[in-house]
Order: sequence, then C-alpha cells, then structure tokens
Amino acid sequence: MSEHDPNCIFCKIVEGKIPSKKVYEDDDILAFHDIHPWAPVHFLMIPKRHIASLAHAQPKDAEVLGRMMALVGELAMKEGARPYPEGGFRVVVNTGADGGQEVHHLHLHVIGGPRPWLKG
Ligand code: AMP
Ligand code: ZN
Repeated sequence: MSEHDPNCIFCKIVEGKIPSKKVYEDDDILAFHDIHPWAPVHFLMIPKRHIASLAHAQPKDAEVLGRMMALVGELAMKEGARPYPEGGFRVVVNTGADGGQEVHHLHLHVIGGPRPWLKG
C-alpha cells in the first residue's frame, strides 16, 4: 500500500490539497479540528501514512499509534479540555460499518470541554 490513497479525504488533508485547522503536526502524525464538532473540543489525530482503520493496524504501526496515544492528553489540554479528574476528554476510534466509521483513514476523535455536548 502506498503512503497516500488518492481517494482518501484525510490523505488529501495530509498533502495540503484540502485545508484543515491544524492542532499538531510532526513527520508522522497530524491533528486537526473536526469540521462537525460535537463538543467544545473536538479534533482528530491521524497517522500521516494511510492506514484504513484500526482493524488494519499491524505491529509495525505500534510506534506511531503509541505516540498518538501519548500525545492526546497534552493536545486536549492545549485545545481547552479541563484537567483530569474533574475535566478530561474522550478518545473514540470508530472502526468499520458496525463501528460507525465514515472516513476510512484511521483517526482518533478527541472530544472534551465543558458539557453539554451535542453527542456522547
Ligand atoms: P468517523 O465516523 O469516525 O469516520 O468520523 C469522520 C469524521 O471526520 C467526522 O466527525 C467528520 O465530521 C470529520 N470530517 C470529515 N471531513 C472532514 C474534513 N474535511 N475536515 C475535518 N473533519 C472532517
Ligand atoms: Zn488516507
């Protein structure tokens, strides 16, 4: 599988062909605001390399996926989530049709901020 799937909307965001409001970027990871936020804080984190879903993750992806998880807390606070334990945030990885996945490029939803939220 190539680095980027030409039909994938999140690969196009990685390549700068579709604009996004960036939260974080390094060589392997991009985080950007969800266009339809459910809560005061709602951004997505993706590996830049196209992985279709969490069901496709391989041992070689462990480093980037681990780094994503290790970064979530810091980015959530920067974006306005309140500190643990009174505050906190939710991380969701929709996977496949039963999991409610609409965009087939692995992404973490990071959702937080004061309630009420639109969903969840
Ligand atoms: P999922 O159901 O987990 O696949 O969710 C895909 C998410 O991507 C939804 O919450 C959408 O609002 C979001 N989304 C779709 N297109 C864009 C885009 N161009 N920029 C930012 N977020 C997007
Ligand atoms: Zn992609």
